Amino acid sequence: MNIHEYQAKALLKEYGAPVADGVPVFEASEAESAAKKLPGPLYVVKSQIHAGGRGKGKFRELPADAKGGVRLAKSLEEVVQNVNEMLGNTLVTKQTGDEGKQVNRLYIEDGADIDRELYLSILVDRSTGRNAFVVSTEGGMDIEAVAEETPEKILTLPIDPATGVTEADCNRLCEALKLDGAAKEDGKTLFPILYKAYTEKDMSLLEVNPLIVMTDGHLRVLDAKVSFDGNALFRHDDIMELRDKSEEDEKEIEASKYDLAYVALDGNIGCMVNGAGLAMATMDIIKLYGAEPANFLDVGGGATTEKVTAAFKIITADPAVEGILVNIFGGIMRCDVIAEGVIAAVKEVGLKVPLVVRLEGTNVEKGKQLINDSDLNVIAADDLDDAAQKIVNAVKG
Ligand code: ADP
Ligand code: MG
Repeated sequence: MNIHEYQAKALLKEYGAPVADGVPVFEASEAESAAKKLPGPLYVVKSQIHAGGRGKGKFRELPADAKGGVRLAKSLEEVVQNVNEMLGNTLVTKQTGDEGKQVNRLYIEDGADIDRELYLSILVDRSTGRNAFVVSTEGGMDIEAVAEETPEKILTLPIDPATGVTEADCNRLCEALKLDGAAKEDGKTLFPILYKAYTEKDMSLLEVNPLIVMTDGHLRVLDAKVSFDGNALFRHDDIMELRDKSEEDEKEIEASKYDLAYVALDGNIGCMVNGAGLAMATMDIIKLYGAEPANFLDVGGGATTEKVTAAFKIITADPAVEGILVNIFGGIMRCDVIAEGVIAAVKEVGLKVPLVVRLEGTNVEKGKQLINDSDLNVIAADDLDDAAQKIVNAVKG
């Protein structure tokens, strides 16, 4: 689960990290009183969406030369003017995709005098199996480009869970970020604080880009992107309250109600599969035959008819879906349950696109029988290869 920048900053502030003062704004009428709470005279108005690249992003509704999703304002009037221009409009950034995201919240923040912009994140380093700091002096811009073009400018520092962030770790991070004087002292306090917040709150990513050195020599967290490990959310009621469903895919929200592992994708072939491995294989084979999956969907091992029905409805409700592939290997999951779910769902919502069903395993004959006895217009397939080819051809034809 992701949260907004202003929420992440409030959380980091509780841990003692240096963040600027700021006030979230939900209505344009709140802009002036919010800004008056800040010292001024330099303010920054920041779009709050669950996507990065806001500074360089463009509002769809505004002229191409209008300013982006993070704007400096030098007076209260400019704050109000920018809030009016930004709130409710659609921000398109590198990370939102072409459809962009509607900006429903803004964050008005105290403007900082920036000397240098650095990059810092904490994430799971799969090669060492540890949480690791990733830092670079090349902050503020596209870290992916830095990783590709000048990887020597990035330091990955795995942290020993038994010791936490040691003094030696702090020194290495300070050195990599070329921190000295006050900034170095700040760093030595900040790194353990960030690590503590990351581990205590079960984050899966804490990204500060940029972490800045200000002209007064001190450090400040200027941007904050935080993702939480969904499997640990049950023990963080305070974090759950920060969830902003308007930022999430509606189909994914619906799927989470039924405990379905569902991820929306860009293609046109809807998939209903049991088992994450088989789901991955199904997506691969669809691609192999030249089409793109519309989703990843694992109905799981012990799915009920109700759950299968919900899954099928979610797939058919997606207007991008031009064909559906049901690929089930019945083990714990029984083929007849899948068949019942598919039939029940089609009865409820109808079927306007081709449907290929491949069933194998426990109760396969019963499952096939159920589908044959229904008058569903199903294309039967014998194996994974056959199924993928049939659905790709059906959609293309
Ligand atoms: P994004 O990464 O989504 O573009 P950031 O929060 O990183 O958004 O802001 C983009 C840029 O705007 C930063 O790299 C920084 O140069 C500038 N900026 C952001 N917040 C402030 C602030 N409070 N004071 C001064 N400049 C800021
Ligand atoms: Mg940023």
